[in-house]
Amino acid sequence: MAYYKDINFLDFNTGSAFDAVNALSPGDRAEYAGIYRCTGCGHEIAIAKGHIMPPQNHHSHGLLNGPILWQLIVAAKH
Ligand SMILES: [Zn+2]
Repeated sequence: MAYYKDINFLDFNTGSAFDAVNALSPGDRAEYAGIYRCTGCGHEIAIAKGHIMPPQNHHSHGLLNGPILWQLIVAAKH
């Protein structure tokens, strides 16, 4: 889970980009800069807008983790 110190620097947002159903697959282009969380294991990464999500071999999953899918959890505004 991502950390923060000062809540004043974060705004709540209900945008669909944060929904797990819109999680990105390895190799997808990130539409938003920010922090993404693997829905299978909780691993987190930060990525710039327009960059490519890490490949399938970025980290390993056991059988119970399912596929690597990257869910946006914190988006940078600009
Ligand atoms: Zn994972």
